[in-house]
Amino acid sequence: MLARPGLPDFEYIRAETPQDVFRLLGEKGDKIKLLMGGTDLFIQMRDRSEGAEILLDVKYLPGMQEINFNKKKGLTVGAAVTLNQLSIHPDVKTHYGILSQSADTVGNYQLRNRATLGGNLCNASPSADLAPAALVYEGTVCLTGPDGNRELGVDEFMIGPGKTALKAGEFLTGLHFSIPPPDAVGQYLKLGRSKKGDLAIVGVAVLGYSDSEVPSGFRFRIGLNSTAPTPYRVPQAEELLAQNQITEEILNQAADEAMKVSAPIEDVRATALYQKKMVRNLTFKSLKEVWDLLKKS
Ligand SMILES: Cc1cc2nc3c(=O)[nH]c(=O)nc-3n(C[C@H](O)[C@H](O)[C@H](O)COP(=O)(O)OP(=O)(O)OC[C@H]3O[C@@H](n4cnc5c(N)ncnc54)[C@H](O)[C@@H]3O)c2cc1C
Repeated sequence: MLARPGLPDFEYIRAETPQDVFRLLGEKGDKIKLLMGGTDLFIQMRDRSEGAEILLDVKYLPGMQEINFNKKKGLTVGAAVTLNQLSIHPDVKTHYGILSQSADTVGNYQLRNRATLGGNLCNASPSADLAPAALVYEGTVCLTGPDGNRELGVDEFMIGPGKTALKAGEFLTGLHFSIPPPDAVGQYLKLGRSKKGDLAIVGVAVLGYSDSEVPSGFRFRIGLNSTAPTPYRVPQAEELLAQNQITEEILNQAADEAMKVSAPIEDVRATALYQKKMVRNLTFKSLKEVWDLLKKS
């Protein structure tokens, strides 16, 4: 007998138009799961945590695999763009480096050929590696459904482990990011059990840029994953850094704030206490490195 029973039977349907998706979701409801790369969904079906009679493949719908960049309007990424496409795209690398960098930390090369940006967010795992970057670039998700299109902030989209703000009949078509501030620099630091290829124990994205409107002259955005039910920003720390002259002491205080608001649970990867301490360490390290880059630019 196999250690795991394998995948259950299912019917595969390739959606040709959004209307196919609305109609089938309306007719079959819970019996359907939407499919893109399948790297989360197939694991969940194999382990029986998700069941579906029909897998409706939405990745061939128009625009789902496109990346478009415009110097005024910003970046639009189709939901089914793979993580390898995202990590090597020249405009993404140049203007949204943290997205490209985070995509490159996921699993391995073969997995990233299937795994998509949209799937990473729709799966709504607390450890989703693309979420911190999507949060610090203040992305919006583009949703479509039988009642029309709507946009939501990434911060409003993931509402709990495995839960999103998608309404019945809706699906994700893409993400939009406006142009970051001109001198913005940033990075994603990820701690896993191995150097590459593991889920995050803690992941921290930091974006820093100058802003003459605030007392410190600089703003920092901090996005974290894996240490709360959903990926999150740390406004308390961000405000501290905007209101006070940037010194090592202030960077330390900001890292303390990040640790205070983190709420990790014990899991196979780490104890809650270890994760909290690593939130502090990684946030400080990342803030310091981004600050050093900002001072040079
Ligand atoms: C070996 C391995 C290693 C991994 N390592 C990492 C890692 O390091 N970091 C990380 O973050 N993740 C990791 N993952 C998880 C996974 O690869 C990513 O979350 C990936 O981005 C999911 O994308 P996908 O296209 O495969 O999603 P799918 O599995 O196709 O879909 C994910 C979920 O979203 C739903 N969905 C799909 N498309 C849509 C849509 N358009 N609208 C609404 N809902 C939709 C599906 O029904 C499903 O519930 C790993 C997975 C494996 C198997």
